[in-house]
Amino acid sequence: MSFKDLQLNKPILRAVAEAGYDNPTLVQEQTIPLVLAKKDVVCTAQTGTGKTAAFALPIIQLLFDRQDAPKKGKKIKALVVSPTRELAVQIGENFKTYGSYSNLRSTVVFGGTSIEPQIDVLTKGVDILVATPGRLLDLHKQDIINLDYIEILVLDEADLMLDMGFIDDIKKIERLCPNDKQILLFSATMPFKVEQLANTILKTPQRVEV
Ligand code: AMP
Repeated sequence: MSFKDLQLNKPILRAVAEAGYDNPTLVQEQTIPLVLAKKDVVCTAQTGTGKTAAFALPIIQLLFDRQDAPKKGKKIKALVVSPTRELAVQIGENFKTYGSYSNLRSTVVFGGTSIEPQIDVLTKGVDILVATPGRLLDLHKQDIINLDYIEILVLDEADLMLDMGFIDDIKKIERLCPNDKQILLFSATMPFKVEQLANTILKTPQRVEV
């Protein structure tokens, strides 16, 4: 299978080719069509399988395809929640790479560092936000972030986030987003507490295991 077979658009195919990817990985083959079909997805996949592109590519496509969304609007439409600063930064870099030709704005926010530069970028407006839970809620409390227009919520490394004690934060973030959003949950392992979270907040999720 090729990336073209996955019905990805030209700006994305070009970015993926420039990244040096020849073909989609297994998790990408299985997940991308489900995300493009706007399904909720629970995906069991380790880091290294290509799972970031499995959600980033279709998210870029879904937002890029939106004719009604003004390109320079200030509404965050996709939110990726990640447990650590390092992972969040990596995901943010991937969105920049894959979105080089898609005219969408993305940024990364995380704790343990000055909040002002993050506020500056957010105030100018982004389409895609990658965030760690604590800083995200902090920025929301300060009215810098509005989650009312989120269409897609990604919970990445869900098992790690629960191990780190973020369960209440995640539930709170989920409730702050609109009810009809699409949710994608990625986890390296699927212990009972992750299953329980998925069953609580996702709507008839499709399952992908690699
Ligand atoms: P991830 O599992 O998302 O952390 O990705 C692991 C690594 O695989 C990253 O360095 C990606 O750049 C790379 N990668 C992702 N998708 C592909 C692909 N289809 N072909 C080759 N490399 C890829």
